[in-house]
Amino acid sequence: MRRGLYVGRFQPLHNGHKAVIDSICEEVDELIIGIGSAQMSHDLRHPFTAGERVLMIRQALSDAKIPLYIIPLEDIKRNTLWVSHVLSMVPPFDVVYTSNPLVIRLFTEAGISVESPPMYQRASLSGTAIRQKMLEGDDWKQYVPSAAADVIEEIGGVERLRMISQTDE
Ligand code: NAD
Repeated sequence: MRRGLYVGRFQPLHNGHKAVIDSICEEVDELIIGIGSAQMSHDLRHPFTAGERVLMIRQALSDAKIPLYIIPLEDIKRNTLWVSHVLSMVPPFDVVYTSNPLVIRLFTEAGISVESPPMYQRASLSGTAIRQKMLEGDDWKQYVPSAAADVIEEIGGVERLRMISQTDE
């Protein structure tokens, strides 16, 4: 039994995350998806709540062939304690999948095995680029699994992002 952990903010879940998750599912028997910065929502970098991100991931991976555990993880103010915090919140695992340098560093220093999946079309498949397209009224749906796009539409995600980008002046 090999269990993996994949951590991300998923603001929103996009096709790069989905490609990585699909390939991890070929390598492990079970996968934990940790939703980082779970306490954050309704700001320009983190428009979606943890629950909305759970829904995007769950719906987009409804045909996953292995068990998935989707677990929101709040940030804590001390990076040195973050790995212990994560370990206290998720089932035991054998390997962490991440390409985020800080996350790689923290798990490596804790003696935990880390694998870094390749990047897929990083220029277009990034949360920042996709949120920018939502703000500017450009086509963003092609970069997001269709089930995740449905969730974003259901919750009025684009309208929320545009509204919180405004000021009262
Ligand atoms: P993210 O959603 O930006 O990315 C998730 C993963 O997908 C990363 O490994 C990233 O490299 C990868 N990825 C992104 N685009 C890709 C693409 N096109 N193709 C393939 N892979 C792609 O999330 P993140 O910022 O890496 O999430 C890390 C989380 O850990 C954050 O929520 C952060 O706050 C949290 N964290 C918290 C602490 C603390 O609380 N002290 C410390 C470290 C990390």
